[in-house]
Amino acid sequence: MCNIPIEDKRNYIDWDSYMNSKGEEIKVKNNEPGIVWKDAVTDTWFYLSNEKYNEYINRIVENFGGGLDSHGKVSFEYKKICDFYDIKNFSKLKSLPWRYAEKEKKPAVVDVCRLFVLFAWLYGEVDKDSRINAYKSFFEGSFDNYPKAYNAVKALTSENSIKINQDKEIILIKGGAYKIKKYYLENSKIHDIRGASIIIKHLTEDLIPQEVFESYIEEAVIYSGGGNIFAVVDSDLKKVIEVIGKCEKIIDDYAITLENVFCYYKSSIYNLIENYRDEMKKFDIEIEQKKKLKIYNNIYTRSSLLNNSIKIGNEQIKIECREELTGDAESGACKRCNTKEALYKVDTPDGQECICGSCLHKLKIGRKCKSSFNKDLEDYINKANLQGISFSMPKEIEDIKDSKGYISVIYGDGNNFGKIVNSLENIYEMMYFSRMVYMTSFEATCKAILDSNYSLQNEKKNLKPFELIALGGDDIFLICPAENSMCFSKHLITEFNKKFREVIATDKENNKITLSIGIAVGKYNNPVRNLFEMAESKLLSAKRLERELASKGQNNGSVDIVVVKGTSYVDFISEQSMFPMDNDSFGEFLKLVNKMKSSEIKKSRIQNLVRAKQQMEEESEFQLYFLYNDCKQKDKNKLEKWMKENYFSKGIYRFEAGMMVKDISEIEGKSVRCNVWKDILDIWDFCKGGVSI
Ligand SMILES: [Zn+2]
Ligand SMILES: [Zn+2]
Repeated sequence: MCNIPIEDKRNYIDWDSYMNSKGEEIKVKNNEPGIVWKDAVTDTWFYLSNEKYNEYINRIVENFGGGLDSHGKVSFEYKKICDFYDIKNFSKLKSLPWRYAEKEKKPAVVDVCRLFVLFAWLYGEVDKDSRINAYKSFFEGSFDNYPKAYNAVKALTSENSIKINQDKEIILIKGGAYKIKKYYLENSKIHDIRGASIIIKHLTEDLIPQEVFESYIEEAVIYSGGGNIFAVVDSDLKKVIEVIGKCEKIIDDYAITLENVFCYYKSSIYNLIENYRDEMKKFDIEIEQKKKLKIYNNIYTRSSLLNNSIKIGNEQIKIECREELTGDAESGACKRCNTKEALYKVDTPDGQECICGSCLHKLKIGRKCKSSFNKDLEDYINKANLQGISFSMPKEIEDIKDSKGYISVIYGDGNNFGKIVNSLENIYEMMYFSRMVYMTSFEATCKAILDSNYSLQNEKKNLKPFELIALGGDDIFLICPAENSMCFSKHLITEFNKKFREVIATDKENNKITLSIGIAVGKYNNPVRNLFEMAESKLLSAKRLERELASKGQNNGSVDIVVVKGTSYVDFISEQSMFPMDNDSFGEFLKLVNKMKSSEIKKSRIQNLVRAKQQMEEESEFQLYFLYNDCKQKDKNKLEKWMKENYFSKGIYRFEAGMMVKDISEIEGKSVRCNVWKDILDIWDFCKGGVSI
């Protein structure tokens, strides 16, 4: 077995101490006999003593007693174990490895026992109702009744020495929603956006997996979340087509306009285990093909749930209207989204309106249900022992606005995830990875919210209202008050990078996971959809910069912003801005602006410089103006001097005669000169809390 060979000189982290660490130093391995393994995703080497390993396994088995619940789901109570050990992070415990795996990278116990039961079911060694026995045998280590499933698990977890000795045809099912952002933003009402977010979560975490549980078994679902599902089922094609049809109908019923596709792929247990990457690649190509073939009716959106009552969480929601309309030209366009035919007359918080079916569902669900993220955040705050911090859900976008009436729409996306997904070698690495990505992004977001001056705003410790619309894997989409959104973004990038660095080690710096963010700041009465589109285009330019920096090994996350004053979008491209910026430069820049705000330098002075710069065609003309003007100032007001004393760039800019200068390293002597005053003015009102960075 895997007892440590004496000559082994690796640095092992003691898994037990890592699990229970509350910030103190994590121990390395001691000399007790134990097992060692390499984390499936992070490549970290761990050690766990045999004694401790058995203790953890016993806890799992003890808590296993419940059998199957009323939905046929196995009660696998990690939560109880976590409470016992007082562990805040579930995903950590879920990384407890299966010691009998012969690979360096061992699967998590929680994944491999499910796979074992799935294989047993596929081979006909166990039926749906007696799965609990297969689980028990798995933990007892008595595999006699399940020789084929055991062989499959051994083949999956050994280095090529063991092969599948009896193959079996299977079918893979993959599918879900896409163009999700478009669905969220069909209209700009916060309740409806929240409703859309709740609908998608309900579909992919409850309804779609339930459909697969009921048609097959719980273990058939390998992954479900963020709008997508992946399942492994038996080779009955007729049934698969039926189930796929049902899944598509569920989405069409609930989220009428949400584009979705479900596909199947004929495979075998051998190919799933031995050719995992190739099989997934081929499958993905087929999915892309099918997406192109689907046609959506996005004009007439009749609700098939009308007058039905649906249950989401603890809420019972009736989908109803005052009057059903014929949908002829007279009823006109939907009052809320403006693009689809109005088919229902309903009472809304904005008065009686004629709206479409898609908006009807979002409206009813968004008004009744609490954003599920807010519930998760509440849990996080309680677990982190931050009792006393409270936050309230915004009722309208207006509730999010800061004292000057501004909100920020923030759209973030991780860099380099694709590379890691493509490098996953087998099905259990994928199970482990998808679980870990969600937990890590979630924790980074919570921490950034709490750290960035959202907390401790006043003595009552009320968090500023914000709306987290989507958190799917590495995607983060939220609306918050603008006044401290710059610092929040800086915290979020730093936290995200740090947390992923803890969990995903890569051999190359430029492959490391970082976050890029696009921020659109505007008045609260700007349509959210417009702000989102701007944030999205800023995210793209931030990601472009990050790719450039990655090629030099200087990637640390990036950010780009647009500030819309009033309600019209002014073209900022004509002014050479310092944005997009890497995260380190961004942090320096926020510090600079905050220092300036607390100095003698007045905002009006910066405004004058911006105006002067706009009027002068030549840069040299502006520089002369700047230096001449600066000479006339009293000593404490001299900007050239102040900037040189206060701007210590760790980043890529330096200050020179009234401009920020960035050298373009590829071209000798070539540099870009940026209008720093415009950038300072842009974020002047939105960088509260910057000192604490
Ligand atoms: Zn509508
Ligand atoms: Zn992404």
